[in-house]
Amino acid sequence: MNSSIRPLMKKIFPVALLRFGKRLVRKTRYYGNKCQCPVCNSSLNGWKPTGYDFPVIREMQIVGSGYRLALCPVCGASDRIRLLYFFLKNKTEILKKSLKLLHIAPNEAIKRVLRTNQNLDYLSADINPDMVMEQMDITGIQYPDDTFDAIICNHVLEHIPEDRKAMKELYRVLKPGGWAILQVPFSKISQETFEVPEITKPEDREKYFGQNDHVRIYGLDYPNRLKQAGFRVEQYKWTEDENFINPGNQFGLNPDEIVFFATKP
Ligand SMILES: [Zn+2]
Repeated sequence: MNSSIRPLMKKIFPVALLRFGKRLVRKTRYYGNKCQCPVCNSSLNGWKPTGYDFPVIREMQIVGSGYRLALCPVCGASDRIRLLYFFLKNKTEILKKSLKLLHIAPNEAIKRVLRTNQNLDYLSADINPDMVMEQMDITGIQYPDDTFDAIICNHVLEHIPEDRKAMKELYRVLKPGGWAILQVPFSKISQETFEVPEITKPEDREKYFGQNDHVRIYGLDYPNRLKQAGFRVEQYKWTEDENFINPGNQFGLNPDEIVFFATKP
């Protein structure tokens, strides 16, 4: 669109309507029978590329990271967002019950689904206040104990030097009986989390952790860290769920991805 026309278009058409129109155009443009995005209900001719291609990601076999064909060209949901959507829809009561939900660093595609859900008391938050309802540092949350029924905090903890403090805070503001989905990229071949606090330069973090703003690579011990903060942790693998129907992996999920479902007893 011509840049001089854009402000005028925004005045005439509300932003939401423009976005809806754009999605409709993309649905037609990328239409096909190769795969299916459950988040935006699109039949597609393929996924678009996403992620970084750094050697450490391949060497450490980091799940939830790395260059791959996994992005929905219509709504922008990646493979891990599509799995999150399935999990929320089928394994939690988020779309049925009235819950007070804290959504940290929300992904746009999943935010759209959750925000339009009338039964949710929805709060989005991030350290960067630009695209969310409230600014929040999760190592010091401005809410009292036992505030939220549910928390979604995905791909955030790997950015936080004091991740144990953040885990304790998330646990504190969760109501007893509440749950949290706390996804992180993790190495499927490393038993232990790799972190060196002295590695602070962006280029070194890229080299050792696979992204210029990551501060560690979680290993298979990640759930233990959550347990040490007080959580009970269930690890959900969609490939082991016989009720999960995904013929030919039409939903484009990563078979190695695990949902870390944490609850507060
Ligand atoms: Zn989509």
